[in-house]
Amino acid sequence: MEEKNQSSLKEQQERRKRINRMKRGLISFIGIWMLICMFLCVFLMIKVNNLEKQISQLVSDSTVSKDVEETMSVNTSDGSDMLSYDSTENANDENATEPLIAGIINSVEMDSENLAQENDVLKVYLTFDDGPSDNTAAILDTLAQYNVKATFFVVGKTDDQSKEMYQRIINEGHTLGMHSYSHKYSVIYDSLNSFETDFYQIQEYLYDVTGRECNLYRFPGGSSNQVSNTDMTEFIKFLNEENVTYFDWNVSSGDATSQAYTADELVNNVLSDVVKYKTSVVLMHDSNTKGTTVEALGPMIEALQGMGAQILPIDESTTQVQHIKAETVE
Ligand code: ZN
Repeated sequence: MEEKNQSSLKEQQERRKRINRMKRGLISFIGIWMLICMFLCVFLMIKVNNLEKQISQLVSDSTVSKDVEETMSVNTSDGSDMLSYDSTENANDENATEPLIAGIINSVEMDSENLAQENDVLKVYLTFDDGPSDNTAAILDTLAQYNVKATFFVVGKTDDQSKEMYQRIINEGHTLGMHSYSHKYSVIYDSLNSFETDFYQIQEYLYDVTGRECNLYRFPGGSSNQVSNTDMTEFIKFLNEENVTYFDWNVSSGDATSQAYTADELVNNVLSDVVKYKTSVVLMHDSNTKGTTVEALGPMIEALQGMGAQILPIDESTTQVQHIKAETVE
């Protein structure tokens, strides 16, 4: 009798142990699954966030930039430094920008001082981003034809033709500015460290090729871009320390918006805004796909000269046009 009782007690204990083991196994299995799910969720959230950013860039740039100007009836930064897709090696990360609220506020402030009065001689600075490209020579030829000097914000390209173009820009009296080495937003705006690395790379490279130290910069997407992972003021602080001046723009030709403007329309976009400012910095692009910009350049210069505007290359005396003002960053 006692033996029987003992063996059933043992059996019960064994069963309890088995059940406990199963419980523990189930709990750890569920726990691991929950962990995996959590990681997956975080990963997906980051992914979605990035995609949303990209979508908003694409949508906002083309439409917002011009629209904001019109609907707000103030002149804002027209962040259309976007999607100038270039088939060459480096310019494959050309992303969108849109005017940040801060950018708008700053440019409004700036614009109130910069608004043209009657009888002002308008100063117009034509700027070309993203070169050198297969169109650089044609742009330079046109500028030479009208004896007009402009500003080129270039990226790093190592082929012989590009090297020749950097040199031609300088030799022909234009201003050479930097526009990052890689033009890859995801890389240069990832951290201050990667921005610095890219900055020194383009500055040293241009020095090697041209023998000139370059102290002028244009942020890919402008200082008001909304693509940067890092606070733009970090980079501005760095440029201030390096004694490098950066320029944004207050007039956009619209040549990098998703809207395919004709050459005539590009000219009109520029003319309609240039009359508003004492100093206009005009955003255009020098890339393989921007044939219309080349086409528009001659008529644009003729029209600007026809209205008595001075067309000048950016130098130290140029009124700074910045979406986020450098002097506000300490
Ligand atoms: Zn660019």
